[in-house]
Amino acid sequence: MAAWTTVADSVKSVPLFAAGGTVDDEVAQLAAAQAEIGLVVDREGRLCWLVDRSGRHLPLQVHPSASLHSLIDSPEIAERIAEGAPGVVAVDDGAPIGFLPASAILDAMASDYAPRPRVMGDETLHDEITLPPLVVVCETCDRRNELISFDAGKTRCASGHVLLVSWA
Ligand SMILES: [Zn+2]
Repeated sequence: MAAWTTVADSVKSVPLFAAGGTVDDEVAQLAAAQAEIGLVVDREGRLCWLVDRSGRHLPLQVHPSASLHSLIDSPEIAERIAEGAPGVVAVDDGAPIGFLPASAILDAMASDYAPRPRVMGDETLHDEITLPPLVVVCETCDRRNELISFDAGKTRCASGHVLLVSWA
């Protein structure tokens, strides 16, 4: 799953239960539906809470047009998933349109941070590029200087004077 797809493209449908019963009723309905997650909605179809086998939970709500990328970048969502939140509920104008499991968000995080593919056998590809120091010989005193950068007229020779370099 690519990280730039939207929540709406990625959600799964989960059973909806009408509010009004007890939490035990909801857990029993969930078991009867052979589902792990259900959403409880009021008479207007608005999301009340999420129910799983352990009971009711306040759901993390996101807009369906949010990108998976924005979920990955959200510290709150990352934190809640790390704490065990089962996922996020896509909610449009109060009404749930689907559920995005935490596993899908974690997959998107993993693909987002995966290293770019590397060309096999190409020794020039490295994750970190380190530039070797530039070795220049001072025109004035013939001393070798190892430099990371050179600023003409300012960089000083190891001997103390301004380094003069002939690049020819
Ligand atoms: Zn010098």
